[in-house]
Amino acid sequence: MKVISILGSTGSIGTQTVDIVVKQGDIRVLGLTANQNIDLLEEQIHQVHPEVVAVMDEKKAKELKKRVGSKVKVLSGMDGLIQVATLDQVEMVVTAVVGMIGIKPTVAAIKASKDIALANKETLVTAGHLIMDLIKQYGVQLYPVDSEHSAIFQCLKGENIREVHKILLTASGGPFRGKTTTELQHMTVKDALNHPNWSMGQKITIDSATMMNKGLEVIEAKWLFNLKPSQVEVVIHPQSIIHSMVEYKDGSVMAQLDVPDMRTPIQYALNHPHRLPNDVPRLDLTKVAQLTFEKPDMETFKGLKLAYEALQKSGSILTVLNAANERAVDKFLKQQIGFLEIYDVIAFAMDHHKNIQHPTLQQIFDAEQQTYEVIEKKWMSERNE
Ligand code: NAD
Ligand code: MG
Repeated sequence: MKVISILGSTGSIGTQTVDIVVKQGDIRVLGLTANQNIDLLEEQIHQVHPEVVAVMDEKKAKELKKRVGSKVKVLSGMDGLIQVATLDQVEMVVTAVVGMIGIKPTVAAIKASKDIALANKETLVTAGHLIMDLIKQYGVQLYPVDSEHSAIFQCLKGENIREVHKILLTASGGPFRGKTTTELQHMTVKDALNHPNWSMGQKITIDSATMMNKGLEVIEAKWLFNLKPSQVEVVIHPQSIIHSMVEYKDGSVMAQLDVPDMRTPIQYALNHPHRLPNDVPRLDLTKVAQLTFEKPDMETFKGLKLAYEALQKSGSILTVLNAANERAVDKFLKQQIGFLEIYDVIAFAMDHHKNIQHPTLQQIFDAEQQTYEVIEKKWMSERNE
């Protein structure tokens, strides 16, 4: 029986992972973590019977402890997350937290020789060079959960990575595909949360609307598959049926197709190299009828352009891109800034950063803090002048 921990079990990826595990019946979940949602975490405790759980929020952790008594060990804070990620018997850690908060537990898990099923793309975007080195150093496996990267991973099987010409990373285009800058100006949180194909957490749904999600995925692909930025091309594919493609040197293109449902890539990461039955709806190509493709509009959806720019420079600017986006999305969700201001915040933070090549973990966390300060102290005050 495979033994796993799930970091961020109460989120969109986390709950779908629990769903797969429960239905599969042959995976033991030893640890779970959540930020604040102890009601759902408590439900999950009854569902999968973990030995240890961690809640980021100290108060909520105390409350949960009262509720569950001695049934399960309740930890809190970052130390708690790290303990869940490094439990002795655990073989694989599913990283389904959102944001670069995932860096520390992911690093700890790799150093404790755990395989990683990675959904948490912000960790690879900001610390990709360090994570990939650690993966090699500790001889563990990293399985992508992100549907595009899972597709690429599958299209690369049995092939030689040196014979890859480029990756065709597909993007739905999000809820605002085809809109002009003038139209985007007035888009509300509700509009942006209305994704046509995928049901996901709030942050990634906003990232899909800005196309920053695809930008982060270009960077994620670069680190996962050791590619040059010019080898990752984004193709808009509104039906989200082809999850990505690999073009080889001879011009041959391999694609992976499926319905847009994250349970399939999650299940594949959990069980690799095996493919198990599940109750995800089947792809019916005659119903889909048409698969269409377009070039991305990087002038309107600047998120993608900013991501390529950061990737070209590489180094700590990648942390700035990501941290500025995390803060800007948070502000947009709280209705403190408008939709297009998300791009302004990121561009401003990137302009105010002195780039460091190959940053250490500490330099990554410093760049993150500096980014928040630049946004709060400089950008916000200039905006409110
Ligand atoms: P979500 O917001 O639904 O869930 C996030 C989880 O992380 C929750 O369990 C939450 O409790 C926890 N969390 C949030 N902030 C935390 C903090 N400060 N400290 C500790 N825990 C915290 O997010 P999601 O949509 O499930 O996405 C998770 C990750 O997977 C993201 O990196 C996202 O980009 C990636 N991803 C998601 C999807 C999807 O379909 N949802 C697809 C591909 C990749
Ligand atoms: Mg994706």
